[in-house]
Amino acid sequence: IAGIPAAAYMLQDQEVHAAELERTFIAIKPDGVQRGLISEIVSRFERKGFKLVAIKLVVPSKEFAQKHYHDLKERPFFSGLCDFLSSGPVLAMVWEGEGVIKYGRKMIGATDPAKSEPGTIRGDLAVVVGRNIIHGSDGPETAKDEIALWFTPKELVSYTSNEEKWVYG
Ligand code: ADP
Repeated sequence: IAGIPAAAYMLQDQEVHAAELERTFIAIKPDGVQRGLISEIVSRFERKGFKLVAIKLVVPSKEFAQKHYHDLKERPFFSGLCDFLSSGPVLAMVWEGEGVIKYGRKMIGATDPAKSEPGTIRGDLAVVVGRNIIHGSDGPETAKDEIALWFTPKELVSYTSNEEKWVYG
């Protein structure tokens, strides 16, 4: 690149690479898929500047849903929640980017859409807690576990996006 010494350019590339490392698991639940909200939700993550590294449409079994929500097994809504998650296609995804776990949760909004801010996914697109259309990992440990539960390592695609230099500088 004209005007930029090679060493500085390499350093820039390494910085961009370091910014790629954080990953989160995001799923559009059966209600979001059935309501035709896939493109709306995927588009919000894309436009933000996060990078899609895995995606698939799956109908999870009830046993699989129970694994995914194992932290909630004592809650009264657990069985209904697992029935619901396994009731139809779920769009499972992994998104990558600096701060994507925490910021992804901000984009999603509060668990109860009635309490989600306008501008968030649940705030704009959902009404009740039992049909809140999207899931996002709530921390680094959960993100790691959920990515490993839903995807095999081969399904995670590492690549450089042309936009990275413009997203991260
Ligand atoms: P989040 O999805 O925001 O991380 P939780 O982990 O607390 O929230 O709950 C997981 C999911 O369980 C929620 O997204 C929602 O679908 C469901 N859920 C939570 N609370 C209730 C409730 N009181 N009644 C029915 N479903 C609930």
